[in-house]
Parts: sequence; structure tokens; C-alpha cells
Amino acid sequence: AKGEGRNTFRIYDSSLHAMSTERLRLEVNLRRALERGEFTIYYQPRIGLTGGTIAAMEALVRWQHPESGLVSPAEFIPLAEEIGLIVPLGEWILETACRQNKRWQDDGMDPFRISVNISAVQFHRDEFVKVVQRALQEASLEPQWLELELTESIVMNNAAKTIMKLRELKEAGVHISIDDFGTGFSSLSYLKYFPIDTLKIDRSFLQDVPDSPKDIAIIKTIIALARRLHLNVVAEGVESREQFLFLAARKCSEGQGYFFSRPMPASEAEQWIRDSSA
Ligand code: C2E
Ligand code: CA
Ligand code: CA
Ligand code: CA
Repeated sequence: AKGEGRNTFRIYDSSLHAMSTERLRLEVNLRRALERGEFTIYYQPRIGLTGGTIAAMEALVRWQHPESGLVSPAEFIPLAEEIGLIVPLGEWILETACRQNKRWQDDGMDPFRISVNISAVQFHRDEFVKVVQRALQEASLEPQWLELELTESIVMNNAAKTIMKLRELKEAGVHISIDDFGTGFSSLSYLKYFPIDTLKIDRSFLQDVPDSPKDIAIIKTIIALARRLHLNVVAEGVESREQFLFLAARKCSEGQGYFFSRPMPASEAEQWIRDSSA
């Protein structure tokens, strides 16, 4: 029994060791990535479904790894949150996105909002509102051109602090949207109390439209809910003309997805904006 125990331990130990060295390497590289300027932001347009105008651009971070190439945020955001790197990284994303939007405005483009994803770790820090205000000031961007994408789990936390922060942001003139709406196992009561501008319908609901009657019913209901609450509503993951036509017919205000454009580096986004408004 003694030998067996040791054996079991050894197997467990070696796989754990392999896992932790791999993780450690990723962690070390991730920490260095910010100093080395390896992060970059891609931009994806959000389109007004009646006028075809650009309603906003969403900032989506990428890691340009020297060997592995472009790394998706799904692969490093959770670790960045865990090791606290999301705080300086998130600040860098906010600042860069605000500066980019200001540059586009200064270049004479019709103004649109820049929307930035905010992780819970970032939002719940005491200085979050200050960080947002500083990013706006440093970029000389008016607050109305910045939108923060928060998840339901962030706003669901109805700690007095959360409500206060949302109100402060709102009073500062920043827009607030709820990302991945409908996936958060949350009650709807926060919609009543919190100053929210926009619902972004999670792309899982659109995926099987127009084939899935249940998904169609859910989307119609979210659009109706948004309209009654005077909220803007965006459908994520629009991939086909059929989906676009379905949403336009249901009077969804905006759409975002590969049908319009994939996320692009800033220079490509700029060309895309020029071409689409020509
Ligand atoms: P999200 O905020 O829900 O972003 C939408 C994701 O869907 C993006 O993936 C986008 O590229 C992808 N997408 C857009 N249109 C389509 C489509 O038509 N079909 C399909 N299949 N996908 C589409 P991405 O850029 O890989 O980002 C994944 C997630 O990582 C984001 O989900 C967000 O939660 C997180 N993330 C990305 N950038 C940031 C950031 O700057 N800060 C934080 N905290 N999180 C971020
Ligand atoms: Ca988002
Ligand atoms: Ca989303
Ligand atoms: Ca999502």
C-alpha cells in the first residue's frame, strides 16, 4: 500500500508539474508582453440597421506573440485577470482606444463611439471611475464617445458601490452597455435600477437564426424588452444576410458581426470606415 501511494503521488506530481511550468511560462511571457508592447487592439464596427451608419467600434485586444503569432483574448484574459495584469493592461486598452477614437475624429470622420470591454476585476477597483476619466482627459475625448461593455455578473452585484460607480460613470457622460445579454443567469431587476444604455444580445442566440424558433422567440423578446425600456439593442454575431434581414425586420437597432466586418487593426479599420462612408 505504501508503494502504491508513492506511485500515485509521483504520477500526480509530474502532471501537476508539467501544468504549472507551462502556466508559469505563459504567466512570465504575459507579464513581459505589456512592457514589450506586444498587445494590439483590433476594431470591429457596429452598424445601425436602418441607416447603415457606423454606430460604434468595439475595441478587442490581441496579443502579438513573437513566436506564436496572434493570440486570442479568450486564451489570455482569464490568466491576466488571475494575476492582476488585467489592471494595467485594461488601462492601456482604455487609453489606446480613446486616443484612437480621438484621432479618427480629428481626421474628420463622422464621430462614433468606441466601446471597450471591462473585466470585473477592473470595474471593482476603487479607482476605476478615475481611471476612465483620466483616459478620456489624456485623449481629449468627450465622454459621450466612450462606451463601457460590462457583463451581467458585474451589474448583478448590487453592492451600493457598484450602483454608485455606474451612476458616477453615467453622470460623467459615458455610455454603459450589457455584454452577452441573456447568458448571465441573472434576474432582470438590475435593468430597473441601473443607468444602462444598451443591451448586446449574445451571439449564441443568433447562431441558429432563422432555423431555430426558440432562438427567434428569445431575440424578439429581448428586442421588445429593450424597446419598452428605451434601451438601445445590438445583435452580436451577425454572419449572414438572412440574419441581418431578420434583425432589420424585427427593428433591432444595431448589428455587429462577420457579415459586416471582422475585427481589424486600426489602419485597416480606418480604410474600412472611409470606404463604407464613401
Ligand atoms: P465579446 O466581448 O463578446 O466580443 C465578441 C467576440 O466575438 C470577439 O471575439 C469577436 O471577434 C467575435 N465575433 C465578432 N463577430 C463575430 C461573428 O459574426 N461570428 C463569430 N463567431 N464571432 C464573432 P474576440 O475578439 O476573440 O474576444 C473574445 C472575448 O474576449 C470578448 O468577447 C471579451 O469577452 C474578451 N475581450 C476581448 N477584448 C477584450 C478587452 O480589451 N478587455 C477585456 N476585459 N476583455 C476582452
Ligand atoms: Ca464585448
Ligand atoms: Ca459579447
Ligand atoms: Ca461573448
